Amino acid sequence: MLIDSHCHLDVSEFDDDRSDVLARSRAAGITGILVPAIDRASWTAIAGLARAEAGIYPAYGLHPMFLDRHQDADLGALGEWITQHPCLAIGECGLDFHVEGLDAARQLQILRPQLELAAERELPVILHARRALDPLLAEVRRFPGLRGIVHSFSGSAEQARQWGGRGFLLGIGGPVTYPRAARLRRVVAELPGEQLVLETDAPDQPLCGHQGERNEPARLLGVLETVASLRATTTELLAAETSRNLRQLLRI
Ligand SMILES: [Zn+2]
Repeated sequence: MLIDSHCHLDVSEFDDDRSDVLARSRAAGITGILVPAIDRASWTAIAGLARAEAGIYPAYGLHPMFLDRHQDADLGALGEWITQHPCLAIGECGLDFHVEGLDAARQLQILRPQLELAAERELPVILHARRALDPLLAEVRRFPGLRGIVHSFSGSAEQARQWGGRGFLLGIGGPVTYPRAARLRRVVAELPGEQLVLETDAPDQPLCGHQGERNEPARLLGVLETVASLRATTTELLAAETSRNLRQLLRI
């Protein structure tokens, strides 16, 4: 069993061959894919995907990089949407202080009600954090008991420990396959096993050797192999451990 904990399978990059992409991921042994939303418009597509295909786990939310698409009314709509459409998590939400021109105050306005909703409904959150791990942790600390995944984790060992202390899992994907990612590789080698989940972030974050290509969930095997070798374990044990971590969090 192997689960991709973060894949934007609903986006238009997959419109021409989504069923082939899914067939390849199943052939690679991937039994589940968590599909986090980007904006309100994506909720319908993700719900449709989850209805049509086995092993699609939907998360609904408003992504911090797409501020120009979000309206205040979308936050209220999110609460109504998840009442009517079963989901396993809230997200993708978070903070991005890397992309220039994204209004930090507006990001917080969009983030906070989503954390509140997740806490209220006792759902995990799928977090996006770029150059924002510490401010995001400060937001999360306002909601005791809130759990989730920091997707595409790229922080220090100390930051990993702090998030682990809040019961958060760390999503590791394509970036770890690059030999130059020395710090990330060291952190991943030493993380407690119970904190690890694997992801592709497809169609983004291609693996080493596939730069410039569209990423896809079948490539999770490459992430699995790299992380297993960094941790001196087998791919079988790592697949079992990371899937168990994710299934416990999502209650599946
Ligand atoms: Zn994402």
